[in-house]
Amino acid sequence: MGVDRGVLGPYVGFDGLPPLHAREVGLPLAHPYGQVVQGRSVTPGGGRLTVEEGSEHHRITLDHLGCDAQATPEKHEAFKQLALAAEAHCLLAGCRHPARFASGNVHRCFEFPQGAIELRVFVRALLCVELGDHTLLDRLVAAAAEAAGPVRPAQARG
Ligand SMILES: [Zn+2]
Repeated sequence: MGVDRGVLGPYVGFDGLPPLHAREVGLPLAHPYGQVVQGRSVTPGGGRLTVEEGSEHHRITLDHLGCDAQATPEKHEAFKQLALAAEAHCLLAGCRHPARFASGNVHRCFEFPQGAIELRVFVRALLCVELGDHTLLDRLVAAAAEAAGPVRPAQARG
């Protein structure tokens, strides 16, 4: 079952799904209908999710390395919208830290202030985008726009 890939390995194949590193096989499985798993988990889309619930900020990273289906331009755009929606709450709160989103990166980082977005809702939105459902994404983008003005003001104003 194990597939040795030399310096990158050992990886374990999962019947056509993106392979997991041997150290990741025992991680809990995240699901849109499930509870938010603190720390690391594996997502339905084959990503590795890390949730850090902080007293001031929530930090969430979603690693899609090796997940080709999650690395299309459409997915990059959707995850970028979600990152910008989160960032809008930071701007509103007067945060000074730099934006953590990097366009086109399969290591996706999201950060937002405690209380701005319900953690459970944000994680569910992420998992739903992986599965192609943008309902919660659209709702969070709309909420961010309502709270902080247009999520992408530079474009909105031409
Ligand atoms: Zn912030």
